[in-house]
Amino acid sequence: MAKAKQAKKESKKETKTSSKIYHNYIGGEWMKSSSGEWFENVNPADTSDVVGRFPRSNQEDVNAAIEAAKSVTTKWRRTPAPKRAEILFKLARILERDKQQFSREMTREMGKVLKESGGDVQEAIDCTYFTAGEGRRLHGFTTKAEMPNKYAMCERQPVGVCGLITPFNFPMAIPSWKLIPALVCGNTVVIKPAEDVPLSTINLVKACEEAGIPKGVVNIVNGFHEPGEALVNHKDVRLISFTGSTDTGRIIAEECARSNKIVSLEMGGKNAIIIMDDADIDNAVEGSLWGAFGTSGQRCTASSRLVVHKKVYKKFTEKLVERVKKLKVGSGLDAKTDVGPVINQPGMDKILSYIEIGKNEDKATLACGGNALTKGEYKKGYFIEPTVFTDASPNMRISQEEIFGPVTTVIPFNDLNEAIEIVNNVKYGLSSAIYTQDVNQAFYAMQELYTGICYINSATIGAEVHLPFGGTKGTGNGHREAGTQVLDIFSEWKSIYVDYSGKLQKAQIDSVEI
Ligand code: ADP
Repeated sequence: MAKAKQAKKESKKETKTSSKIYHNYIGGEWMKSSSGEWFENVNPADTSDVVGRFPRSNQEDVNAAIEAAKSVTTKWRRTPAPKRAEILFKLARILERDKQQFSREMTREMGKVLKESGGDVQEAIDCTYFTAGEGRRLHGFTTKAEMPNKYAMCERQPVGVCGLITPFNFPMAIPSWKLIPALVCGNTVVIKPAEDVPLSTINLVKACEEAGIPKGVVNIVNGFHEPGEALVNHKDVRLISFTGSTDTGRIIAEECARSNKIVSLEMGGKNAIIIMDDADIDNAVEGSLWGAFGTSGQRCTASSRLVVHKKVYKKFTEKLVERVKKLKVGSGLDAKTDVGPVINQPGMDKILSYIEIGKNEDKATLACGGNALTKGEYKKGYFIEPTVFTDASPNMRISQEEIFGPVTTVIPFNDLNEAIEIVNNVKYGLSSAIYTQDVNQAFYAMQELYTGICYINSATIGAEVHLPFGGTKGTGNGHREAGTQVLDIFSEWKSIYVDYSGKLQKAQIDSVEI
C-alpha cells in the first residue's frame, strides 16, 4: 500500500511554488532532505488544495536524525523524570492553546470531520497530561532478598533511541501515544509520520520545541516507506513502535527480529458489535452509525461487523439503513458533514474493491450505498457512500477482512454463544461490543469475547487514554499502548541487589540458618 501511495504523490526536485514548505526536525534544526526532493500533501476532500510540500527523506536523513537522538541519550536519561514531566506538562498546555488550529489543519490533510479532529488533538492533550504524571511515579518495587542483610529492588530504565512509525488515521493522537511515554521514560526518538498526514505530527514536534524539550531528543523525518525502513534497519535504534497495516507490521517485525530490536505493533481489526434481542435498538443504531462510519470507517477499532439477533434483525437493519441513507457526506471542514472523504486513491480503490467482493463474490445484500461519489462537490475528492451489507454470513470475505472504509456488514445470529463465536472467529482481536439490558449476558460476553477492548452498550470505538489500548491475535504482538501499561514498552526493568552483609553470600547455594 505504501508503494501505491508513493506513486500517487509524485516527488519533486525543489521548484518555486506557492504551497507552504515544511521541514524535517533533526538535532533541533528544521532542515530539508539531503535528497533535495519534496512530496505534496493534498486535502483528500479536494485534491487541488495542496496543504504543503514536505521533505522526501532518505537513509542519510534518518542516519542524521538517529545520530542526533543518540548524542543526547545520556543527557536526557539523566534529566530527573519529574523535570522531564514538567516540560511535558508545558507541552500539553501548548497543545491545548493551539487545539483549534491543529484540528483544522488535521481535517484539511486527513479529511475527518472537525469534531473528530478536535477529539484527536484532545486525545494527544489527555495522553500528555496523563503520561507526564508518570514522571513523578515511574514506580518500581522493592522485595525481600533470600539472604540476610541483602536488599532487593527493581526500577525502570530507558531503552535508548526509539523509532516511531505512525499511520494516517490519528495524525496527532497516535504519535503522542508513542512519543510521550517514550520521553517520560527517558528515551530519545525519531518519528516517521504517515506520508498522508505529516503536518499534524510536525505540529506536535513544533510544540515540543516550544515547550523546551532539548535539541536532539525529538526528531522527525518525513517521507514514504524509505525512511521507515531505514529506521527499522538502523543498528542504533533499540526499539520500533509501529501502528499501521498488518502487512507493513509483519515486515517490520521480521526485520526487528533479525536485529533483536524491541518491537511494539498495533495493526488491523475486524471489530464487531453484538445486538441482542433485548437491546435498546435506537441506542444500538446510534452506536453502530458512530462505530461504523466515524472517521469514514478508517479506524482500527471501526465497527465493521454488526452481529444482530434474528428476533430484532429486521427492525434493527431497517432503522440502521434509514439512518445511513441520511448521513451527509462531504468535506470535514463543513459543519453539516457526517462522513468525510477517505484518505487517498489507493485507499478508495481498496474499499471499492471490497464493495465489489461483497456484491459479486460474497453475494451479500447491498442494503444501501456502494458507490464512489464523483460529481459536483465530490469531484475533486475521495468520497464513498456509507455502505451497509446485510444478510451476510460470518465466513464471507467482507465479514473477515479489514476494509478500512465506510462499509459495515450485518450478520444475523440465533443465540449469544453463536454470536460470540462469530465475533471471535476472525484473525484480529482489537475491540468488541454488546448491546443488551441483561447484566448476566453482558458479563458473560465480557468474559468470552477475546479482544483487547470490550464495550457494553456502546460502539467498538472511543478508547480513553488512561486504560491500556491494544488487541489480541493478529492485531498486535501482545503489547499495550496508553494507560500505565505503555511504560512496559518504553522501559526495561533493572533488578538491583544490595548486599550489605560484608561477606560473600551465594543465592541458591548457601543455606540460611534460622
Ligand atoms: P496506513 O495505510 O494505515 O497508514 P501503512 O502500514 O501503509 O498503514 O503505513 C504506516 C506507516 O508505516 C507509514 O508511516 C508508512 O510510511 C510506514 N511504512 C510503510 N512501509 C514501511 C516499511 N516497509 N518499513 C517501515 N515503515 C513503513
